[in-house]
Amino acid sequence: MNYLSFNVKRCRLLGGNDNIISKSSGIAYYMHRDQRVQDNWAFVYSQDLAVKHNLPLYVLAGFNVKHPENPEGTRRAIDFTIGGLKEVEKECTELGIQFHMFKDHHVPMFERILKFIKETSVRCIVADFSPLHPHRNQMNELAKRLDSSSCLLQVDAHNIVPVWEASKKDEPRATEMRNQIMPQFDEYFTEFPRIKNHPTKVLDPLPAVNWEEIRNSVTVDETVQSCEWAKPGTSHGMQHLKRFLTEGLHIYNEKRNIPTVDAISNLSPWFHSGQVSAQRAVIEVKKFEEQYPKSVYKFVDEAVVWSEMSDNFCFYNDNYDKLSGAPQWAQDTLNEHRSDKREYVYTKEQFEKAQTHDNLWNAAQIQLRDEGKMHGFMRMYWAKKILEWSENPDEAIAIALYLNDHYSLDGADSNGFAGVMWSIAGVHDPPKWGERPVYGKIRYMSYNGCKGKFDIFEYIKKYQSG
Ligand code: FAD
Repeated sequence: MNYLSFNVKRCRLLGGNDNIISKSSGIAYYMHRDQRVQDNWAFVYSQDLAVKHNLPLYVLAGFNVKHPENPEGTRRAIDFTIGGLKEVEKECTELGIQFHMFKDHHVPMFERILKFIKETSVRCIVADFSPLHPHRNQMNELAKRLDSSSCLLQVDAHNIVPVWEASKKDEPRATEMRNQIMPQFDEYFTEFPRIKNHPTKVLDPLPAVNWEEIRNSVTVDETVQSCEWAKPGTSHGMQHLKRFLTEGLHIYNEKRNIPTVDAISNLSPWFHSGQVSAQRAVIEVKKFEEQYPKSVYKFVDEAVVWSEMSDNFCFYNDNYDKLSGAPQWAQDTLNEHRSDKREYVYTKEQFEKAQTHDNLWNAAQIQLRDEGKMHGFMRMYWAKKILEWSENPDEAIAIALYLNDHYSLDGADSNGFAGVMWSIAGVHDPPKWGERPVYGKIRYMSYNGCKGKFDIFEYIKKYQSG
């Protein structure tokens, strides 16, 4: 592997001292958000370091959310992750890389990693990147506790342009984000070196992971079960990508906002868990640039500009999940309309059970609940109506995030925080909409507006209750 193939701007030192690498007994990649072996810059960098210093390579993984308190603590989400990690373990074993699955789910991740460092003398940890609080807090806690005899490095393996390079501030809208990202795109949009058979093996390999035992040891909401259409793992994700290239991409530009047509990629569950790299998808999609230029442009815009803007939002805005994280104009307008009379007010439970007066909204909620993913167009309508029918905007944000993260296979993602905040709280949207009750100047969507865009009755028929 060519050491120069890795752009070092993808990496930053979070704690400790990176001059100690040659004194470490190995390199450990803590795989959190990017659960795949190939097409993974954090893995590429970890193997580069290990090869350069003749060291064995470890992959560390584990659940680091407190189930079942976190909304994403469902059988659906956990089984999707386990399915992905099983593939990672198999591939690591074939490549002579030690896969290490942490078991003690209730111990904070930073403590588990510190214990691993102590027990193995592996002093160099490479982590992948997420802008969300749970991961950031764990990495900060770990970094604080490392002295100059070890180090914690972080690689942004999720975004094409690393979030800290894309922009130095919270970008207000897609136009500004596009202007930041696109001039840097070619520098980072390079083919991935392959992870190869690792030359230096661990001396005492661990036994294979007992996945059944791991699966049974996590307490989760068992009522939210796996979905037949979305099988976990990189191999299934790559099959979906192939299907999209042949069946969806040619109509993506024209039909991606029509919920009754299969024009979108449906790749978000695999992107979210990192089982498929968005960069790989973009590499494959761009091969069709001459045939379908508009669709390719649109897909790249969504998967790069909009998605990386979500990471930018969560990275630079600590309040990405509450009204105080909204732009000032949106906070002001929502607060001015806080006491407006709502025509309907529903509780979280009524929303969850799809018990509103609106059959289109209920159908969207049923799609989310039963299929683990709602069509992107309906997501906007769904969240805006939660604003319209909740006691206040704070509660609307909390309910929308809970339902999204509890049921959606791509939930608890920066795209979800940005999507909910876009719909309810004006994030990344200009204040140019006419003023109306409850919404103030936030962009509005209506039942009749949807009727004018697609055959809502076909959609309702497909997802009606009972
Ligand atoms: P495609 O149209 O095929 O797009 C390909 C990829 O581009 C997506 O997988 C995603 O990575 C990215 N993308 C597309 N649209 C957006 C967007 N508006 N913002 C950011 N990235 C985008 N996305 C999630 O990944 N997880 C969520 O939890 C989530 N919750 C949302 C909640 C609301 C209320 C809204 C309005 C949007 C939400 N989104 C979320 C963003 C978007 O709706 C989904 O990414 C998209 O529907 C996923 O389906 P797909 O992979 O078929 O998309």
